Amino acid sequence: MLLETRALTANYGQFRALFGVDVTVDAGECVAIIGANGAGKSTLMRSITGVLRNEPGMVLHRGESIGALSSAEVMKRGIAMVPEGRRLFPSLTVEENLLIGGQMRKAPGPWNLAAIYDLFPILRERRRNPGTALSGGQQQMVAIGRALMSNPELLLCDEISLGLAPVVIRDIYAALPKIREGGAAIVVVEQDIGKALAVADRVYCMMEGHVTLAAKAGDVTREAIHAAYFGEA
Ligand code: ATP
Repeated sequence: MLLETRALTANYGQFRALFGVDVTVDAGECVAIIGANGAGKSTLMRSITGVLRNEPGMVLHRGESIGALSSAEVMKRGIAMVPEGRRLFPSLTVEENLLIGGQMRKAPGPWNLAAIYDLFPILRERRRNPGTALSGGQQQMVAIGRALMSNPELLLCDEISLGLAPVVIRDIYAALPKIREGGAAIVVVEQDIGKALAVADRVYCMMEGHVTLAAKAGDVTREAIHAAYFGEA
């Protein structure tokens, strides 16, 4: 197992945001995490990437507990995050943003500047532009490219389609199969159920800090998703 959470809990002060979450990701797999606003999806991502620390045995990478590691240490293990909101360095160029990703972890693999520019050709044209001069979709491409530059085993994507036009979302989602061909497993956090099911092998639905559904994407019915997403039968 590449990544596993076991009875994972997370708190913000007195407020409990996750109540015993169990998810697994196998090498090379694409897993979708869906759920409404506030379901706990981003908290799950933060718990995996070391932004929120947790108890031994709650988050395992290749069987080893990583819940006490910093974000930098988690990234060095090959787990890269495309954060919600992209978080580029605005004064740096596209290329400088990408190169920073490569400095976080130097690992052999398919991803380098040329490969990122082949994946998203518009970034090659824009490589000397600062992050601030890009459209939202282009910024999202840089955020994905920056994460890929570390040649991760696991790429975590938090709401990569949020606020983007459908045509741009299509381009970004078209990149995911190519990223898998490069060997990475992918977790996509999505509010768009259709997008999630189209790209994922398996899907988890979360509601109010619980996993309410775990299924193969091909097996799941609309009714089951609806019940798990909204808590209605
Ligand atoms: P969204 O799609 O809005 O990002 P989400 O499923 O990712 O939703 P989380 O952001 O993980 O949900 O939030 C889960 C719960 O934790 C929510 O009730 C939210 O209000 C709360 N929460 C999130 N971040 C914080 C924080 N920094 N401090 C306190 N409570 C928080």
